Amino acid sequence: MSLLPWQTGTVIRLEEETYNTRRFWIEVQGQETFGFIPGQFVTLDLPIHEKPNKRWRSYSIASWPDGSNVFELLIVLLEGGVGSTYLFNEIKVGSELTLRGPLGHFTLQPEHLEKNIFMICTGTGIAPFRSMAHHLLRNNIPHQHIYMIFGCRTKKDLLYYQEMNDLALDNFHYLPTLSREEWEGKTGYVHALYEEQCSGKPDAVFFLCGWKNMIDEARERIVAMGYDKKAIHLELYG
Ligand SMILES: Cc1cc2nc3c(=O)[nH]c(=O)nc-3n(C[C@H](O)[C@H](O)[C@H](O)COP(=O)(O)OP(=O)(O)OC[C@H]3O[C@@H](n4cnc5c(N)ncnc54)[C@H](O)[C@@H]3O)c2cc1C
Repeated sequence: MSLLPWQTGTVIRLEEETYNTRRFWIEVQGQETFGFIPGQFVTLDLPIHEKPNKRWRSYSIASWPDGSNVFELLIVLLEGGVGSTYLFNEIKVGSELTLRGPLGHFTLQPEHLEKNIFMICTGTGIAPFRSMAHHLLRNNIPHQHIYMIFGCRTKKDLLYYQEMNDLALDNFHYLPTLSREEWEGKTGYVHALYEEQCSGKPDAVFFLCGWKNMIDEARERIVAMGYDKKAIHLELYG
């Protein structure tokens, strides 16, 4: 299969989502529509190294297909992270980015919509699920229960919090949990939340997105509950 060509995108809007995450709106040059399936990502080629493959950083598309040539990314600034530091320090409105995409197979298939869907994520791992949830709503796509289980440390790390609370999608259960702060909502890691919902072993598929520790543990626990490995879909950020 031949690789998609590199394209140029212009950053048309930037907004701080939290103290260490930023939303980037990118307009793809030379095409009217940037088509993608919710859950897919783009790869950016950043001028941070001589070797091409050391310059590439991938980001899930946080917005949903709307027929335009603009899409949104949600990026966290990592301490010592070469690519994210470049994106936060050097990229302004009007900057150009070299990108390839859409890429990836972390997407909802028709058979998934007949089961309960668990969207389990930490941090910016919420991005592909935000895209999927809005897409289902916007296109009135029939589905079973959807549990979006989002973990972060403290209240100030919550991403798209109000938006997800307000999302008028049928059978959508937004379950944010904090691991390092007491608040009016759930506390602890994400794992107890899907385990509780799955205690009666409902027919379910699991989509996991984020960093390795969470994903490895979730995968083990889901299999330990008796679910087939084939019911688990992963997008590993690093
Ligand atoms: C398919 C895909 C989609 C992605 N989507 C997103 C997205 O939507 N938003 C987003 O912010 N990132 C996303 N990432 C991660 C992103 O590609 C980069 O890896 C990230 O921005 C760090 O790059 P960097 O150059 O700043 O850090 P680097 O200089 O590459 O160093 C980062 C190092 O720290 C480790 N690390 C970094 N952060 C963490 C963390 N929070 N917890 C644990 N270990 C960590 C990494 O494993 C790595 O070794 C995605 C990755 C993939 C593969």
